[in-house]
Amino acid sequence: MKKLNGTVIVTYRCNARCNMCNRYKAPSRPEEELSLEVIRKLPPMYFTNITGGEPFVRTDLKEIVRELDKKSDRIVISTNGFFTERIIDLCKEFPHIGIRISIEGLEETNNKIRGLEDGFNRGYTTLKKLVSMGMKDVGFGMTVQDANAKELVDLYQLSDDMNMEFATASLHNSFYFVEAKNIIHDRPMVAREFENLINELLRSKSPKKWFRAYFNHGLINYIYGQKRLLPCDMSFDTFFIDPYGDVMPCNGTKNKKVMGNLKSQTWDELWHSPQAETVRKQVRSCERNCWMIGSVSPAMHKYIWKPAWWVFRHKFLSLGKKKKYSMYENKIVRDYRDGKVKKEYLDRCSTCDMNVEAEDGLSETSREQIKAKCKENC
Ligand code: SF4
Repeated sequence: MKKLNGTVIVTYRCNARCNMCNRYKAPSRPEEELSLEVIRKLPPMYFTNITGGEPFVRTDLKEIVRELDKKSDRIVISTNGFFTERIIDLCKEFPHIGIRISIEGLEETNNKIRGLEDGFNRGYTTLKKLVSMGMKDVGFGMTVQDANAKELVDLYQLSDDMNMEFATASLHNSFYFVEAKNIIHDRPMVAREFENLINELLRSKSPKKWFRAYFNHGLINYIYGQKRLLPCDMSFDTFFIDPYGDVMPCNGTKNKKVMGNLKSQTWDELWHSPQAETVRKQVRSCERNCWMIGSVSPAMHKYIWKPAWWVFRHKFLSLGKKKKYSMYENKIVRDYRDGKVKKEYLDRCSTCDMNVEAEDGLSETSREQIKAKCKENC
């Protein structure tokens, strides 16, 4: 069986209160979340991302990782790093896995954005403990918005000093984030910060960082609402599974798209079903142009010549000229600077829609639970 790239959303529960994600208001019921029995039905994977909500909210995460470890070449867990002891305990048994801790800026900014008391120190302490344990695949993840863009390079330098990975994203809207109104307001300011980061990455000696520079170049393109730099092949050799067992192409769609359900079907049944084919057709014509690592990383491997040529041009051809990367290499950035396109036009190109209520992708029973809780407390 061909190995796939899978993201396992083990829960929609979350202990943080991020300003760009409403998932914490729409949690899944623990009783409905993926069981070990369902996890055993997943196919072999060359890469598995475990995420949430906050995955470490699940006290049985260790058992889940034990199952996934049998069928995955590489596992990375995305977490806010708050549950330090649980993370350390898990990593003692699985020192070969990767951990990405979302940190949204330096202390004050991070805590404001995440709504987690002492969140920065908890996350940072967790990272340091993991490094001191000898964990190799550890890093930061940052979702860039107007409020934290100015700290992008500072945070990169912090991760670099600690010899850690540094992953970036920009604001997105989708059912997964239960959000439709996220938008970057000051695009040139944010793009400038990405430009600075790209030049830092290109200056390094690490080929991995040069390709990260390309990814960040794609983020500038994304925040200006332009067509993706690489095709999106989600649902072909990549999938997401939500806490209910629904298998989806990705987490970027406006409404939840379901290829099948692993609680009631076998993997082969759902993966080769007419419903899965319908979703694949929708992916082919999808115009959301996401640029998140989950959909871009497989595309960068598949269409390697394109990022490789970009890296070659920026790293080597410009060497003699001492020319740095400029955000104005992107035509749309020049057009905006030159007044050829207006902010309103760029806003319309984004996935932000102020007139819609975001879908939450919850089951009826999870939704009932929220209503019941609201009746008690609201
Ligand atoms: S562009 Fe790709 S990742 Fe984004 S919503 Fe469409 S199919 Fe999903």
